[in-house]
Amino acid sequence: MKEIRFGQPLVGEAEKAAVLDVLNGPTLVHGPRTTAFEADFAAWTGAPRAVAVSSCTAAMHLAYFCLDIGPGDEVIVPAMTHVATAHAVELTGARPVFVDADPDTGNLDLDTLAQALSPRTKAISVVHFLGVPVDMARVMAFAQAHGLFVVEDCAVALGSRIDDIHVGLFGDIGAFSFYPVKHITTAEGGMVISRRPELAERIARARAFGVDRTPSERSTPGVYDVPTLGFNYRMSEIEAALGIEQIKRLDGFLDRRRRNDIRLRERLSTLPGIGLFREPEPPMISSHYCRSILLAPDQASRRDQLAASLNGAGIGTSVYYPRPVPHMTYYAKKYGYSEDDFPVASRISTASIALPVGPHLDETDMERIADGVKAALKEVFQ
Ligand SMILES: *Cc1c(COP(=O)(O)O)cnc(C)c1O
Repeated sequence: MKEIRFGQPLVGEAEKAAVLDVLNGPTLVHGPRTTAFEADFAAWTGAPRAVAVSSCTAAMHLAYFCLDIGPGDEVIVPAMTHVATAHAVELTGARPVFVDADPDTGNLDLDTLAQALSPRTKAISVVHFLGVPVDMARVMAFAQAHGLFVVEDCAVALGSRIDDIHVGLFGDIGAFSFYPVKHITTAEGGMVISRRPELAERIARARAFGVDRTPSERSTPGVYDVPTLGFNYRMSEIEAALGIEQIKRLDGFLDRRRRNDIRLRERLSTLPGIGLFREPEPPMISSHYCRSILLAPDQASRRDQLAASLNGAGIGTSVYYPRPVPHMTYYAKKYGYSEDDFPVASRISTASIALPVGPHLDETDMERIADGVKAALKEVFQ
């Protein structure tokens, strides 16, 4: 029987040819493909400027760095996210102040923002959990009232929009990931978009050591100045070549994801004991990253057994995310968070299973996943 993987990059002949083309040419970094991929990404999202970087983590680190956030500052961060969201803050020397999740969506609970606020708060980090947009009108109203920057972690939200505006363009900066299980892949890679072109330009300099001109902008080769501090967080031409081919397929990928997710959700909604997150309603559009199911509290202790049963039937699963970030040893030790903090995020971590809806799968696979969940529930709970 076919193995249904949780995530599987779709790398075709066009991608392979594009990579070989780079390797056959003279330019591996600082070349035309990175610029072209940025232009394609900006056009696809409707951003005035996109800046290609080495990962979403790098994108967010650059964001806080270029917003001058550092020691003594605080950033409000959702507890229910990838650890990268918090690391990007921590790496600047600022302190992430975690907030719990909304049980209906898994997104950060906007009712807790006021409690997390202090005179040191400089920014809010927003994660569009599983591709379901956060209510950005509310976030921006709060941010404007308190003079805060907003950084949107869009790692799993490529294709998520509100009122036809792509996520990442509401706050100051949007950060994207091209890690293999995300919507499109460049192996490793990321992108920054911003509705503030001058900020995007600062990020573009800071990703390459803070150098004031790229090789193509230099009148005398090798001559440049370094007016600011910076990193090496660039994307290579090999990755950009992959990105150019992948973004051509993005509309098709998203359409497949949407149809898969609708089919799977319909089938799962008839199964007793399975909870589902609330669906976003127009004008909010999800990127359909995956379909997470939530077990009832009295069944959650057997979550891992249920996942093992599904895996045994050839159905790949994942957990988004396996622990609230403040419960991870590094953060728990450093800031003294306890297991009782962030009960909603904890429940999502311990009671959920993420099922695949990616473009490597079709509606027949969704039937198999739904049947598999039904059979696994029977096996584990009866
Ligand atoms: C995957 C992921 C990241 C990390 O992306 P990288 O490109 O691997 O750095 C960050 N945030 C979220 C929400 C993610 O899911």
